[in-house]
Amino acid sequence: MTTTSQVRRPTRGGHEIAMTQPWFDEREVVAAAAAVQSGWVSQGARVIEFEAAVAALVQVPYAVAVSSCTAALHLGMVAYGIGPGDDVVVPSLSFVATANAVRYAGARPVFADVDPRHHNITAATIEQALTPATKAVIAVDQYGTPADMEPIRALARERGLSVVEDAACAIGSTYRGRPVGTGSDFAAFSFHPRKILVTGEGGMVTTSDPGLAERVRRLRQHGMSVSTFDRHHEQRPVHEQYLETGYNYRLTDIQAAIGVVQAGKLHSMVSRRRELAAVYQELLSGVPGLRTVTDPEHGESNYQTFWVMLPDDYPVSSDELLAILKRHRINARHGIPCAHQEPAFSDLDPVTLPVSEHIARQSVLLPMFHTMTREDQQRVADVVCGTWADPDHFRE
Ligand SMILES: *Cc1c(COP(=O)(O)O)cnc(C)c1O
Repeated sequence: MTTTSQVRRPTRGGHEIAMTQPWFDEREVVAAAAAVQSGWVSQGARVIEFEAAVAALVQVPYAVAVSSCTAALHLGMVAYGIGPGDDVVVPSLSFVATANAVRYAGARPVFADVDPRHHNITAATIEQALTPATKAVIAVDQYGTPADMEPIRALARERGLSVVEDAACAIGSTYRGRPVGTGSDFAAFSFHPRKILVTGEGGMVTTSDPGLAERVRRLRQHGMSVSTFDRHHEQRPVHEQYLETGYNYRLTDIQAAIGVVQAGKLHSMVSRRRELAAVYQELLSGVPGLRTVTDPEHGESNYQTFWVMLPDDYPVSSDELLAILKRHRINARHGIPCAHQEPAFSDLDPVTLPVSEHIARQSVLLPMFHTMTREDQQRVADVVCGTWADPDHFRE
């Protein structure tokens, strides 16, 4: 056990440590510039190339690029025919876009609790949230930790529910030895800078169902029967048809060009994050009762986010710890708030989700990026461990 005399005293000097930072180098710059120089900047050849790269990484036959993961989730609802009068089970402990996608479809989100160890919804917590109107479930691989999808799919089969996997944070994570998304009928990924593979804004739907892939392709471009790119390459005039009401959810070729480079780096990015996670796990092991994100038995995380959960007897609140970190020039974040407690969802029947609420209160997300050094991580750990051992020294 650490005693006060052994605690390292971090200085308030030193460079500022960012929360996160994309892993870009000259190659992304060159690729984006080449897309601009080509004169074709909207959805075109580079989007097709990026889709092939992601399909290969996720090991699925079809990947359809869209403008964001939020757009992908919305199209999941549309593709499964979710609409007014339907209920969709979602975790409250997720980025608000998960529940918003349900609202876009005119359906009602019903919030489920999560498992206290890995912070994901499970077949058991979903079962508690089912109503006679439940039509679908959005299962989230929170912060890159793979959700246990097989029991969720089994429950869904039994109850006739559709399952969308919100794998926004989880590209490069594995579930039962295969990439997250492989076994999903519909998985949605994000390429926002807060995630790992970054295109600025961007998303992807992956599926092994050709009909679903075709429908999503059509829905992302106004319901058109033929893409602008294909029409451009036809010798004869093409009359497109608008087969249904679609959306403008296209990715640009500039974003996709960056994505192709990033896809080539995914394995290095994930292995670097797993190294950084192992260092944090070791450095933080001195605080009794402090829990950190770890791999579940059924898979490996890409550690998109490194969370810690402060023990209930930690001497300061998570907000106070964030302020102390900030005074030491370290940027960290509070854990995601529970959607069911946000004003945007105050019209829904009130629910109590004790596990999610406890996690939201006690979690702190620590900085992690590829150029982070062991010294940087030591500075972070010194504040977290030091505040536990000698809070008066760290309080203002
Ligand atoms: C980031 C995130 C989203 C939204 O992704 P965008 O690409 O920004 O739309 C959705 N769900 C979860 C779980 C996320 O973390």
